[in-house]
Amino acid sequence: MATQSTKLLVIGGGPGGYVAAIRAAQLGVATTLVEGEQLGGTCLNIGCIPSKALIHAAEEFEKTCHYAQDSALGIHVAAPRIDLAQTVRWKDGIVHKLTSGVAALLKKNGVQVVRGWARIIDGKTVEVQEHGTSADAAPRRIVCEQLLLAPGSLAVALPFMPFGGRVISSTQALAPQTLPKRLVVVGAGYIGLELGMAYRKLGAEVAVVEALDRVLPAYDEELTKPVLASLRRQGVQLLLGHTVQGLNANGDAVRVRDAKGEESELPADQVLVAVGRRPRTQGWGLETLMLDMKGPAVQIDDQCRTSMRGVWAIGDLTGEPMLAHRAMAQGEMVAEIIAGTRRHFAPAAIPAVCFTDPEVVVAGQTPQDAAQAGLDFIAASFPFAANGRAMTIESTDGFVRVVARRDNHLIVGWQAVGRGVSELSAAFSQSIEMGARLEDVAGTIHAHPTLGEAVQEAALRALGHALHI
Ligand code: FAD
Ligand code: NAD
Repeated sequence: MATQSTKLLVIGGGPGGYVAAIRAAQLGVATTLVEGEQLGGTCLNIGCIPSKALIHAAEEFEKTCHYAQDSALGIHVAAPRIDLAQTVRWKDGIVHKLTSGVAALLKKNGVQVVRGWARIIDGKTVEVQEHGTSADAAPRRIVCEQLLLAPGSLAVALPFMPFGGRVISSTQALAPQTLPKRLVVVGAGYIGLELGMAYRKLGAEVAVVEALDRVLPAYDEELTKPVLASLRRQGVQLLLGHTVQGLNANGDAVRVRDAKGEESELPADQVLVAVGRRPRTQGWGLETLMLDMKGPAVQIDDQCRTSMRGVWAIGDLTGEPMLAHRAMAQGEMVAEIIAGTRRHFAPAAIPAVCFTDPEVVVAGQTPQDAAQAGLDFIAASFPFAANGRAMTIESTDGFVRVVARRDNHLIVGWQAVGRGVSELSAAFSQSIEMGARLEDVAGTIHAHPTLGEAVQEAALRALGHALHI
């Protein structure tokens, strides 16, 4: 059996693992990364990037269809159509470019990449059955000083309606062969609404079944109201407070039950189950380490150390929030600690964006969080209806909200809902991380006409002297 040794061994080449490997190698740490599927992980191959590509294509198509019917702008087009196979090829091209980019960056920085599934033997030893070798070939054995676990997560399946046939996860939904006439989406969270809306815009009839009584239940209700209104406008059928019972006997409809216990059926050519993701903890020998767990996730401290010395964990394996930028930030930090820097994972805010139409962004504390924490705070909003840029892009729905301490005006949170607000997340996180006060944002000249002016105006409003409302 071929045995090799390395200082750092990273399992998983997603955003957590590949960033950790690049940073460690930049700092002179001998690093090996093992990836069983594609570099870039869920994020680049079956998550963030392909979903945003599909959402973009769907939005462009819907816009064109809208122009074909009626346009206040004076734009007229004749009967638009979409070639879904071409859309998927375009999306795959972006994925290919980005995953090749990751491979090139790893190579440039001197990271050794091993292609195959890693199996943990102990906290310092891993075996890999390399791709391209026969099943009876001896696995490669890698001995390391530091072991970083970054294997990501998997879609949660409903036991009474497992994946297969008509029942699909986000992975299949991101590679449609044809458009289903009727799509039933189970779960009105991130994936259900991002992809449900995209399919609706591409032309499918979409019904969304959500167990709780509102959409995007992780966000506060005021923030999700414009999303709810948009879903209704788009003609998405919403079954809130409904539970899914399974497929009917013919397998062509989903049986649902409302809060009163009444059952009905939703015809479905496809059923997208998007009820969450769970850390990937099984099937690769993790249990042999007997690490402390926190629910379904591996427990970590504020340096991403697990309960075993020299074994670290990052990204989705460590639970919520399961976001690519959190995984990357954790990976970068662990690499620096291993290289000898003193670091702790204590971000003032981890922004989260939901790429629905309109988009939703949160960073730091909401008014509810602040109230729960017993903080004496001010919250103020500025509507896009009073923003010139929003009017010129025909998107006046939504608002920006700021939350700040009443005593010293330290900003503790930002939220926004509206078209294109994902790009405000940088300003939100920077101001919180840099300890900005309301006066700092209110006193900064914001370019005109931009959506960013609503950020300044929200701060001005919190200070009691908004100018444009
Ligand atoms: P992953 O990206 O899952 O990577 C783990 C890698 O490890 C995989 O490549 C896997 O093959 C490999 N691996 C696992 N086990 C082994 C083993 N034993 N041996 C070798 N290799 C192994 N997040 C956002 O921030 N923004 C978004 O817009 C967003 N959109 C999303 C859309 C969808 C549809 C989905 C599903 C997720 C989305 N996410 C988004 C979440 C984001 O993709 C994850 O949080 C992120 O990819 C987690 O990174 P990770 O490095 O922990 O794991
Ligand atoms: P989610 O947690 O966002 O939403 C799941 C939804 O399903 C919830 O609203 C929940 O109440 C509902 N639900 C659960 N069980 C149900 C049942 N039996 N019947 C009906 N409804 C049910 O999960 P997701 O949408 O699957 O996304 C998984 C993870 O992927 C997210 O936690 C997020 O971290 C990540 N993600 C992020 C983005 C982004 O950042 N834009 C996009 C997609 C995914």
